[in-house]
Amino acid sequence: MLIGLLPVEGVAGADMDALESFVARHYECEVRRLPDLAMPADGYDTHRSQYDATALLKAALAVHPVETDRLLVVTDKDIFIPMLTFIFGQAQVDGPAALLSLARLRQEFYGMPARRELMLERARKEIVHELGHTFGLVHCADKQCAMALSINVTNIDIKRDALCGACARHLADRLEALAG
Ligand SMILES: [Zn+2]
Ligand SMILES: [Zn+2]
Repeated sequence: MLIGLLPVEGVAGADMDALESFVARHYECEVRRLPDLAMPADGYDTHRSQYDATALLKAALAVHPVETDRLLVVTDKDIFIPMLTFIFGQAQVDGPAALLSLARLRQEFYGMPARRELMLERARKEIVHELGHTFGLVHCADKQCAMALSINVTNIDIKRDALCGACARHLADRLEALAG
């Protein structure tokens, strides 16, 4: 399996390095870092002062190399979908791409001092969550499972960066099917 990592312009290289090594370790697979994606012209919503997750995913899919099985798009911008005030990330269930925003994983967003390690820990959990969706996983009732729905960082902080037994078995089945 090959997972492509696509940073949207503006994400710090050191943050991408940390997330890249986590993805490679967690999925025990090959990871390829793609060149930074420029923010699409229709990506910014001036009324909301936020970035449109759907436009971003669409732009990412346009540069998605055919050989990558899954694509993880990472942005430092605050993103939304029309129904919601904001989202931490978005994924196509059973689809090729997932999107993660680091903006609201940062303590600075809430007026607190920066804690990079905490931001990266939250990012790892949300990566397992969003990529989980691309492998067909749905939300889990176990609040500590990475597939639990998070609507705020408190929810994320309760979770682990791993799946519960049931979700892990489901993922293993899917990865086996992908490999075979
Ligand atoms: Zn979800
Ligand atoms: Zn679970």
